[in-house]
Amino acid sequence: MYSRPVALVTGSSRGIGAGIAAELARHQFAVAVNYYRSPQPAAELVAQIEAEGGSAVALQGNVGLGMDRERLISQTLEKFGRLDVLVNNAGITSPGRRDVLEATEESWDEVFDTNLKGPFFLAQRAAQAMIPLIGQKKIERGTIVNISSISAYAVSTNRPDYCIAKAGMQMMTWLLAARLADCGIRVYEICPGVIASDMTAPVREKYDRLIAEGLSPIRRWGQPSDVARAVVAVVSDAFPFTTGERINVDGGYHIRRL
Ligand code: NAP
Repeated sequence: MYSRPVALVTGSSRGIGAGIAAELARHQFAVAVNYYRSPQPAAELVAQIEAEGGSAVALQGNVGLGMDRERLISQTLEKFGRLDVLVNNAGITSPGRRDVLEATEESWDEVFDTNLKGPFFLAQRAAQAMIPLIGQKKIERGTIVNISSISAYAVSTNRPDYCIAKAGMQMMTWLLAARLADCGIRVYEICPGVIASDMTAPVREKYDRLIAEGLSPIRRWGQPSDVARAVVAVVSDAFPFTTGERINVDGGYHIRRL
């Protein structure tokens, strides 16, 4: 049984997830670094965490598949003997970014499997693992963090499946928060704004322009580290009387302005 708290971060081979995994490791978490198609960057992140004195393991798995979700939880428990934190970060944008009138069921299924069904059932499985660990006092509490998006409420007519799935994440957060509070598990939604990553690389120039024009009151790109620091804050004991909260990490984008 591992003495440090343990976090499983989905989709942490690159981008925001890699930033979250690295920051949690800096804060004494052992980290399960989940990747899907990118073993190399996941292995490099694990090596970097270990070089800094931390503990990590790279775990392959598609969060959209039940078998893979089961394996992610069981391999984390096999390696570290406990699970304190799940960060549901893995996500894809809408393949082909098709207009509402052209959207396909194939794209819908892929986005929903990865961005909503996977996170819900992984959270369910993680909670099933955490509850006995809390009962046996092997972990103090559990925390589930869902990485959603400003797309949960801001319309992009060329990414309907992505927006609808992210909107669903708020209800998912509330449902889990309400059900799991008595079990000692707190649940949060983090809503990033425009963050520099491979996902936003193809639309960089568009966002460069929008940010310069004042898209968000804080006129800069968000970085994976901005999201990572918010995750570390909610999994710490800084907010003991909260659950189900949405934390906006968006430079103030969510503020309506006239
Ligand atoms: P990214 O740079 O495209 O990285 C995506 C990560 O998710 C990769 O590590 C990838 O793993 C993993 N992944 C993709 N499909 C997966 C699957 N089926 N199973 C497991 N892992 C999978 O994306 P990002 O910008 O860091 O986004 C991370 C999260 O933040 C997403 O949920 C996204 O919706 C959300 N978000 C992003 C922004 C933004 O501006 N970038 C804003 C708001 C919210 P492999 O490389 O190993 O395949």
